[in-house]
Amino acid sequence: MVLDDLGTSLRDTLDTLSGKSRITEEDVDKVVKEIQRSLIQADVDIALVQELSDSIKERALEEEPPGGTSARDHVLKIVYEEMVALVGESTELPLEEQTIMLAGLQGSGKTTSAAKMAWWFSKKGLRPAVIQTDTFRPGAYDQAKQMADRAEVEFYGDPDADDPVQIAREGLEATEDADVHIVDTAGRHALEDDLIDEIEDIEEVVDPDRNLLVLDAAIGQGAKDQAQQFDESIGIDGVVITKLDGTAKGGGALTAVDQTDSSIAFLGTGEEVADVERFEPDGFISRLLG
Ligand code: GDP
Repeated sequence: MVLDDLGTSLRDTLDTLSGKSRITEEDVDKVVKEIQRSLIQADVDIALVQELSDSIKERALEEEPPGGTSARDHVLKIVYEEMVALVGESTELPLEEQTIMLAGLQGSGKTTSAAKMAWWFSKKGLRPAVIQTDTFRPGAYDQAKQMADRAEVEFYGDPDADDPVQIAREGLEATEDADVHIVDTAGRHALEDDLIDEIEDIEEVVDPDRNLLVLDAAIGQGAKDQAQQFDESIGIDGVVITKLDGTAKGGGALTAVDQTDSSIAFLGTGEEVADVERFEPDGFISRLLG
């Protein structure tokens, strides 16, 4: 991480350490306060912010800077390492045959993310297929088909069927030549029992290698309940954060990562199929602290 990636006031605070050979508790407090301000503004859960603050303080005061390292660089390095520990590494996604199922509430961006991820895998030389099982939201089939067409990937859905489990079963058969199956599921406005029952039934038939939870970047502390419920029912292996092209920084999604003991797989940065990035800690950290 370079200093330029940080917000101006954090950079300025770190710069005040430049000439110092010893770091005082007061110095570290100032840096930690700046970080806390940015993270809370970015919707990071207060308990996670507190844990991070404690680790930074403890390490900055206890660890001796290696010879020749300035106080500023020493603190910067600790801040960076602790931020990486907070946001985690990218969810592992081997470029091989696999089935991925998406879970999340309505409007979180599942259908869009399914097409984006298929596009991403196709650019990596694999043959993806999107299977749309959302029979709940009117227009879901048309939207998913349109997005899959734009991504130029195989698509299966059935606008006349009303049993998502059957669609999933038939979809897997119809697209058996594909390498990567991405199964989109229906959401609901809230965490309702029938949503959880339905996704459990689909999961049983699909037997995914990975379940990814799709969260809107603007999600605040609601991330915790969603993560807990979906993790208990199907197990969550990774998180997709959508709508990072807006003003929200996506810090709330870290609660879901923490709750499910998982990591972030993809970031959505727009409405088009190519508006997708693999999660990288550095860019995300800069965004949170910027
Ligand atoms: P679903 O109900 O979870 O399947 O959500 P959709 O995929 O239908 O997305 C809901 C709305 O959010 C749609 O209008 C999408 O175009 C929009 N959307 C999804 N991902 C992104 C994103 O990364 N950026 C922006 N700006 N809009 C997005």
